[in-house]
Amino acid sequence: MNTPIQELKTRACDRIDAIAQELIEASHAIHARPELNFEEHFAAELLTTISNKYGMPVEKNVFGCETGFAGEVGSGPTVCIMSEYDALPDIGHGCGHNIIATAGLGAAIALSHVADDAGGRIRYLGTPAEEGGGGKLVMARHGALDGVDVAMMVHSADADLTTIDAIALQQLLVEYSGQAAHAAAAPEKGRNALDAAVLGYMAVATLRQHILPTERVHGIFTKGGSKPNIVPHETATEWYVRSDTMDSLNQLKPRVLAALESGAHACGCSVRHEWDGNPYADMVTNNNMSAMYIANAAALGRSVTVPGTNGRRVVGSTDMGNISHLVPSIHPMIASAPLGTSIHTVAFELASITPMADRAVIDGAKSMAMTAIDYWTSSEQQAAISKEFAQTNADKGVL
Ligand SMILES: [Zn+2]
Ligand SMILES: [Zn+2]
Repeated sequence: MNTPIQELKTRACDRIDAIAQELIEASHAIHARPELNFEEHFAAELLTTISNKYGMPVEKNVFGCETGFAGEVGSGPTVCIMSEYDALPDIGHGCGHNIIATAGLGAAIALSHVADDAGGRIRYLGTPAEEGGGGKLVMARHGALDGVDVAMMVHSADADLTTIDAIALQQLLVEYSGQAAHAAAAPEKGRNALDAAVLGYMAVATLRQHILPTERVHGIFTKGGSKPNIVPHETATEWYVRSDTMDSLNQLKPRVLAALESGAHACGCSVRHEWDGNPYADMVTNNNMSAMYIANAAALGRSVTVPGTNGRRVVGSTDMGNISHLVPSIHPMIASAPLGTSIHTVAFELASITPMADRAVIDGAKSMAMTAIDYWTSSEQQAAISKEFAQTNADKGVL
């Protein structure tokens, strides 16, 4: 005889199985039409259409994001399920957000089906622009998390892990200005902004020896001059600066900037910089929530491990980190590609529409739905999760 909780879980999982084919087709359709930060019109349209069709009402263009969407069903303790659906330049869905999108969609639809009987509320958010735009921050600033008790999503990966090792991140734009001159006829009249950028880049390379081993600083040149016989007078570079926490990031930032500015001083150029207004915070996983997810994924045959225990971890940054400082959150990684296939690669993009990826869509949806049901139906778990959050998430300065 099933307990009421098991019966609710069975109903939720049956719902996901009933629409599995449509979820997978949606995953493949989003994969075939990669869209960048805040331009995810096709994905938002597809996800909202399916969500509305199956009884999880959502609206687009909400909480400050044209390609965001939101809706809710039920009342009581509120679980937020999030879908990401943006892609990367050049390598499309090399982060597998088509899987994230449709796993979230399946979970939200299933939960809308059982929310009333379980005594809970599901809020489903479509959160654009994870790859650098910070859609979750924008939406949270506009109130998308108001009234939410816990939040979750699953992220595609090459292993089943409790979380991403998400460290704090802030993007930086640095532009150098010099003086154009004919490179052969009058080089002495030039002030070379490319030299300034190169020296700044090299100064960061020397800095790397004296930062924490977990910190990451990486940059590209986005403008390097227009013709070899003109001394480059305008150059631009873009940087990602990452550290374990927002606090340690704030200590690293001036050191990186000083290194980059040094190139300008050496070359007689001027330099301007701009820190991105949406820094990503580190991810704080709520272990009580995570334990529920681990148990539910195990029921589907997935062994979810803590990063590093089997040698595998995924390091990156995500705007879900900021969310994890606002409400208790989990961001488990679900195996959607063969072990050793790193995210942000062509191989991962190719893997994201295979049968393994499709299974991740369905299992991810079910694992999240069952975890939400556990949360809704256990006041002890609700209390334990809140208590843990109060002890671990003091940082409210993440929006
Ligand atoms: Zn990514
Ligand atoms: Zn991603």
